[in-house]
Amino acid sequence: MKTDQSQSLFARAQQLIPGGVNSPVRACKSVGCDPLFVKKAAGSKIQDVDGNEFLDFVCSWGPMILGHNHPAVVEAIEKTLRDGTSFGAPCPLEVELAELVINALPSVEKVRFVSSGTEATMSAIRLARGYTGRNVVVKFDGCYHGHADSFLVKAGSGVITLGIPGSPGVPADIVKNTISIPYNNPEILEKTLRDTKLDIACVIIEPVAGNMGVVAPNPGFLQTLRTLTTELGIVLIFDEVITGLRLALGGAQEYYGVMPDLTCLGKIIGGGLPVGAYGGTRELMDTISPVGPVYQAGTLSGNPLAMAAGAATMRQLAQPGFYAALEEKSARFAQGMTMLAEKYLPGQTTLNRVGSMMTAFFTSGPVVDFDSAMQADTARYGQHFRQMQEQGIWLAPSQFEALFISAAQSEGELATALEKTECSFKKLAK
Ligand code: PMP
Repeated sequence: MKTDQSQSLFARAQQLIPGGVNSPVRACKSVGCDPLFVKKAAGSKIQDVDGNEFLDFVCSWGPMILGHNHPAVVEAIEKTLRDGTSFGAPCPLEVELAELVINALPSVEKVRFVSSGTEATMSAIRLARGYTGRNVVVKFDGCYHGHADSFLVKAGSGVITLGIPGSPGVPADIVKNTISIPYNNPEILEKTLRDTKLDIACVIIEPVAGNMGVVAPNPGFLQTLRTLTTELGIVLIFDEVITGLRLALGGAQEYYGVMPDLTCLGKIIGGGLPVGAYGGTRELMDTISPVGPVYQAGTLSGNPLAMAAGAATMRQLAQPGFYAALEEKSARFAQGMTMLAEKYLPGQTTLNRVGSMMTAFFTSGPVVDFDSAMQADTARYGQHFRQMQEQGIWLAPSQFEALFISAAQSEGELATALEKTECSFKKLAK
């Protein structure tokens, strides 16, 4: 595979941008290679600057559920663009997307748009703290909620990938207000939440974890969390930045039938443009400025292009049968992966899948929390990543991320991806 252009751009980028990248995992360090620079993408395919083409299973880390440059999304952006790109004043598209989001997500009565998932989660915990008058945030080991100070405690995603426990620059005074507990452990959860000395404002969870690789909630875990937080007057926040509009139009809350008090969104609701959102009950959301005292603002919040891309995406997702078709494709693909793993790497892999998000962990498993995810053989994942890249398959450059199926991938392309997986697994077995 020719990579001259990418290499030359990476050399330049490293002089100008820390590590040559604007988000750490993109540097591909943990899989032992340099990043490829992308020229363009369309549908299920992504093309690098050297002209290599790949079948994309990263989907920009989740947003591109329709594939890249979906005609309806492009048309909406182009149409909106002609009338200006940012107003700093309310515009009709914000109302349109708010209606779509509120109609889709069962627990959301009011929503506020921001510009990233990080802003959404950061604002949601401020709201929970302001509303309850308490300080402590409970999160789960291996979950990632963006890079705000309070969340960089036993966090997932790049924080695991780069092997750092937290982050310098986050004051101990802030970290002391974050408690991180194991995912899927109802006993520790109950003990923690019932400890009245702790002054707990909220619990934030990825209802399906995607940032330690995909880890599903054990049956009943989310219900237990809901029951306990209701009883104890603790605000329950679902971080649906990945799962929102991915598992169902109504996200994980619809999928599992468990309603949080607040929901954080991002990725898909922006249709590939920078968006985040947080929403919830009318009572909670009316605590936000300018109605209530909890302050939160944004120059580009409700950006018309992002609103247009999000609304166009949501209209596609709302078409009858969309999620059933995606589930069927994802299930077939996962079945193929499992068969190959059993044939070539028996007892050495665990496939976790919920809907169109999945992770093949290189460990005998089961993978149910951060500690079990950490058993995965990351060197083996690195080898698999490189072997797949060589064969034109674009995977996440870390074991601790999700593989996403998009509506743009054809059955034929998924079959091809399985053939390439077979070649890679055969080599790994040697
Ligand atoms: N929450 C979750 C569950 C995420 O996966 C991410 C990003 N991967 C974030 C929050 C942060 O979103 P952003 O990168 O847009 O700030």
